[in-house]
Amino acid sequence: MSAKPLHVLVIGAGFGGLTLAHGLRKAGVSVAVYEKQRSRTDGLYGYRVGIDPTGNRALKDCLPPQLFDTFLATCARTPLYFNVLTEKKKRTAAIRLRGDADLINSERSVSRQTLRQLLLTGLEDITHFGKELTHYEQRPDGSVTAFFADGSSATGDVLVAADGAHSAVRKQYLPHAKLKPAGITTIGAKIPMSREALALLPRPSQQGLSLVFAPKGFMCIWHVMEFRWDERGGIKDSAAGNDAELLRSWPGLLFDNTRDYISWGIWAADDKFPKDVLKLRGQDLIDLTLKLTPNWHPDFRKLFAMADPTTPFPLHIATSEPVPAWKTTNVTLLGDAIHTMTPGQGVGANTSLRDAMLLTRALTAANNGSRDLIGAIGEYEAEMIPYGFARVKDSLAENGTSGEDPLHKPVVGRAVLAGARAYFKAVDKIPSMQRKFLDDLYTYRGAE
Ligand SMILES: Cc1cc2nc3c(=O)[nH]c(=O)nc-3n(C[C@H](O)[C@H](O)[C@H](O)COP(=O)(O)OP(=O)(O)OC[C@H]3O[C@@H](n4cnc5c(N)ncnc54)[C@H](O)[C@@H]3O)c2cc1C
Repeated sequence: MSAKPLHVLVIGAGFGGLTLAHGLRKAGVSVAVYEKQRSRTDGLYGYRVGIDPTGNRALKDCLPPQLFDTFLATCARTPLYFNVLTEKKKRTAAIRLRGDADLINSERSVSRQTLRQLLLTGLEDITHFGKELTHYEQRPDGSVTAFFADGSSATGDVLVAADGAHSAVRKQYLPHAKLKPAGITTIGAKIPMSREALALLPRPSQQGLSLVFAPKGFMCIWHVMEFRWDERGGIKDSAAGNDAELLRSWPGLLFDNTRDYISWGIWAADDKFPKDVLKLRGQDLIDLTLKLTPNWHPDFRKLFAMADPTTPFPLHIATSEPVPAWKTTNVTLLGDAIHTMTPGQGVGANTSLRDAMLLTRALTAANNGSRDLIGAIGEYEAEMIPYGFARVKDSLAENGTSGEDPLHKPVVGRAVLAGARAYFKAVDKIPSMQRKFLDDLYTYRGAE
């Protein structure tokens, strides 16, 4: 087979699109990224993302080695405990996690904004901001042209939809694909780190992530995020030698305003929130959270009230419906653009990174001539669609992130809450159950 060098158009500079661009560039494939945000600091990139073994593996595969090391240095302190609490701040479980000695088979916390800055590093010359795709055209000669809202266009051999849950590419390419509301509303916010704020959390929660199961289907998650740089962006003395060097030479830190924080996110069925919740901003969202949690422990309520009023954001959670297989062409999709899932399992970003790694391999083979282009994309899709939609289904079954979950039903919900607490209490107390819980957790998240 003769090799015809490809030019790949990636629509969307999110985690998946940028990781794909790194992977292709590393493999010598020509690629350009088109992002609708107007600059590298625009967009809603506030919350914490957990990167699991699947995500670590994809990043290691696709990024240049030094950038992968910088990724490790930009992560927050690795969570030590997975905690389950009641809304009265009582411990249900405090399960010790496995740490990060194994670079790949470990769980990391990263700020969404920081990871985005990291992934933009080294792609500055091929990432085009202010380019909102409106539509594309496939031509008989095998080329594809993307058209943007500013009147410009770009032509290549392959077009990859990495433009997230509301993908404009998917709407044109697979108009029958549906994104539906999961029936869940969430509000998230950040508290600037302080001794006073940290002391309001139980000790194991100060060193990890904590899930609160509360009555009426309310849930909350706490994350303690401590980085290797201080509030002025200077490298902390505690950063190990190599990390300090990497961070000092990393230009992304200049664009990133992430500082140590504690984040909270509460969620429940839509009917627990006012209808206009998406219109609320700032202090109104903090006040609403306090109104929704009158019987929660005063320390949790203090923490809600301590949120920086510029940080709260409301979301209705959405989920993709499975799409029957389609005829493969030179337009393909990855990440949320094809399989949006609830944050129930915390694997949406990781799945997007996995897609990027697989698609890198497929397009590299086509670029080298060891595989025909449509065959290579077809193999990628045949692998990605089953695991992607399996993750969508799993995410609806976990942590009350589907409005259909019995946790949200008036009477049965109480029994389900009691059952969940009893299960985690047993995991906390019985070593064999705890081992199984951890094995299942890490295996699901890609540990080998
Ligand atoms: C509260 C919350 C917590 C989460 N926590 C986790 C977690 O812990 N772990 C995890 O794995 N996942 C988590 N997720 C899911 C994760 O954030 C997403 O799955 C992930 O961001 C998807 O990456 P992506 O690259 O596919 O899409 P996105 O990150 O959505 O990127 C899409 C990009 O395309 C751009 N774009 C959109 N339309 C256009 C257009 N027409 N033209 C050009 N560009 C366009 C957007 O501006 C954006 O930059 C969480 C999600 C939420 C809401």
